[in-house]
Amino acid sequence: MNSSKSSILIIYTGGTIGMKTDAETGALVPFDFSAIYDEFPSLKRLNVDIDVQTMSPVIDSSNVAPANWLALAGIIRDNYARYDGFVVLHGTDTMSYTASALSFLFENLAKPVVFTGSQIPIGVLRTDGRENLITAIEIAGARRGGQPAVPEVSLYFQNQLFRANRTTKRSAEALSAFRSYNYPPLAEVGVNIAYNFPAILRPDSADSELRVAGRLADGIVVIKLFPGLSEQILRSMLSAPGLRAVVLETFGAGNAPTSEWFIRVLHEAIQRGVIILNITQCGGGRVSMELYETGLRLQKAGVLCGYDMTTEAAVAKLMYVLGLGLPDEECRALLRRPLRGEFTA
Ligand code: ASP
Repeated sequence: MNSSKSSILIIYTGGTIGMKTDAETGALVPFDFSAIYDEFPSLKRLNVDIDVQTMSPVIDSSNVAPANWLALAGIIRDNYARYDGFVVLHGTDTMSYTASALSFLFENLAKPVVFTGSQIPIGVLRTDGRENLITAIEIAGARRGGQPAVPEVSLYFQNQLFRANRTTKRSAEALSAFRSYNYPPLAEVGVNIAYNFPAILRPDSADSELRVAGRLADGIVVIKLFPGLSEQILRSMLSAPGLRAVVLETFGAGNAPTSEWFIRVLHEAIQRGVIILNITQCGGGRVSMELYETGLRLQKAGVLCGYDMTTEAAVAKLMYVLGLGLPDEECRALLRRPLRGEFTA
């Protein structure tokens, strides 16, 4: 490879971006990313060398499971020294979960891992995939002062680059399918790519080695509060065998009913060792449990504050932290502080 060029590994996992229309039948068929230069000769004009690896089997991202996240992290770990950056092509439906999980699995990440996909298949004339792909490659290869410009797990979609663990899929229709409600974009793309460098994570020390976690815990559930949730149902959910942690999506700034039974059921679960993490079911904004009596009661019952974390990041962080096999108090300490810029306290 030409050493003045960045070298990028594209990992194709599946999803809409990988489809094109068969010229004869008109049906959607998988796009062969290994022939990427034949399909997009203009890529040769980017200052990058590209290799492509296709995961087997390619899957619709609704079928993604934590085992796929570990496999994907393993591919990046095994190729980490050989490439300057990575582009992961992924279905949009669960992209924010996968990208959040990878952000936690990688400790001391010093190279870009850029997720992207598309709402319209890449082989359809009006696709959004072509621009998403080309710009994601450019971002993965971008340098600043000789170092990677965006050395974190990010998600590029429709002219905006986000910290991956701050994103959420917000539309099943719009081409701007993702939002980062609580953290500014890492870059805005117009005629030029305008990086927001102060917002981008820097590795603690350039020579600390990449560490990739090898386990994600199960036993996690998301419970979204709604007026009318019954004691019996909540109690039975919190008594499920194997339950280790709950992402509790509360109202507004972290509020929940103050009824005696509600607080008691949560408190009993916490005493049995279940971790309960409070995040808001609002798209934007944060949990501040000191603000109202309703939040304060949760705090007193032992519920942890998730600040402005997304559901996707909360699920992935719990799987990662509980997968480390640490004593309970150490897990709680890791949940109280941001590990990869996933919340602002
Ligand atoms: N169902 C597809 C997936 O997530 C949708 C997409 O790629 O946009 O794999």
